[in-house]
Amino acid sequence: MPRKSNGIAQRLVFYLIGVFFLFACPGFAFDSQKGQYDTTGSVADSISVSTNVVVEGQLNHRTLCAALLSYDISEAEILALSNSFKPVFDFRCSRPKDRYHICVDDNNRIQKFVYKTSPLDEYEAIKRDDGGYRVYKREIVLNRQVAAKVFTIDTSLCKAVAESGETHEIANQIVEIFAWDIDFYLYPRKGDRIAVVFERYYRDGKYVKNGKILAARYAGSQKTYSAVNFNDGQYDEYYDQDGNPLKKMFLRIPVKFGKMTSSYSIRRFHPVYKRYKPHTGIDYGASIGTPIFATANGKVTFSGRKGGYGKLIILKHPNGYQTYYGHCSKLLKKKGDLVEQGQVVARVGMTGVTTGPHVHYEVRVNGKPINPNTVKKSRAKPLRPELMAEFRKVVHQRMLLVNNLLDEKTSLAMSPRENENSLYSLVWKEKNVGKE
Ligand SMILES: [Zn+2]
Repeated sequence: MPRKSNGIAQRLVFYLIGVFFLFACPGFAFDSQKGQYDTTGSVADSISVSTNVVVEGQLNHRTLCAALLSYDISEAEILALSNSFKPVFDFRCSRPKDRYHICVDDNNRIQKFVYKTSPLDEYEAIKRDDGGYRVYKREIVLNRQVAAKVFTIDTSLCKAVAESGETHEIANQIVEIFAWDIDFYLYPRKGDRIAVVFERYYRDGKYVKNGKILAARYAGSQKTYSAVNFNDGQYDEYYDQDGNPLKKMFLRIPVKFGKMTSSYSIRRFHPVYKRYKPHTGIDYGASIGTPIFATANGKVTFSGRKGGYGKLIILKHPNGYQTYYGHCSKLLKKKGDLVEQGQVVARVGMTGVTTGPHVHYEVRVNGKPINPNTVKKSRAKPLRPELMAEFRKVVHQRMLLVNNLLDEKTSLAMSPRENENSLYSLVWKEKNVGKE
């Protein structure tokens, strides 16, 4: 996927380092000059017929059967092939953009057949002696690279990410990582910057997808937040620079990009009832169907209609806490279900007494509503002491890189490095030039 770059992107330091894996997947390299397959490294049951004829094509708006018939392949062959495919892939799920690769012998019998439904999904069929096919899903080996980028906020994070040519997915990841500290609707100010170090996956030099964010730093006008990805031997988590997990007991808001439309107040003039009454929660406006997620781990104690709340979900949490999610269009959990923090429990709607689509988010302690903004955000467990040495090493390397990205005075060489560590050592050297 070509990445576009603009004036802003060019000023930002951006570089990629490849960590090259051996291509261990079974497969053939087709030499278009000779019209033959190089079978080096292929699996044991691969055939090696030197007179193979190969055709490649896209399904377009045909059935696979119609496509194969156009190459004069017999119906019996096609039937045997599709029968062998059944346990692995159902051709009724074919799409026009799917591609195929057929290898036939002198008698126009299929020896090998490859079917590609995406850059990550490929199926291969190899003729067996009994006339059937051995079909399996190919293991795709991707080349992992590490990329680093800075986003400068003008109006919103989403826009900043999109303008730099990156996918919306990166914005979502940033929002998720910092969800416990930054309300991305209220907090960002023009000029705030976010540096991220993240994984990128390529196949044969072509971009396939982004991986996880390895480190990020939000440099805001008021405060700075850091996040480092670290595996504690069991889970991949994000921690601050001291090893404290960024996940807290409650998420700040129950929708990703919800806009606060009404705050918690003891006395509010109600737009529908036309009189003053307390507003026991916070309203977040979002379009109908927006996922509403649980702000903490808990158990569903109510799921259904309840007066002015309309369709409502109530979760019970430890220490007497409850959270309410009202005016939903759809309830996705039922009474008794256990939910995890961040799990989608319902969708935004405008059921009950409301003037527009929003989620009414309420927090109660021992049955009494409290201001959700004052909920104590207790932290999950910090890293175990024996992991701290390794953690500090990771923090040191990644944060150095992130800080260098944010520090415009530092210009870094753009040449690709062979792995993540050599990128860090490069940054370290440049940072210290002139200090000796
Ligand atoms: Zn409300």
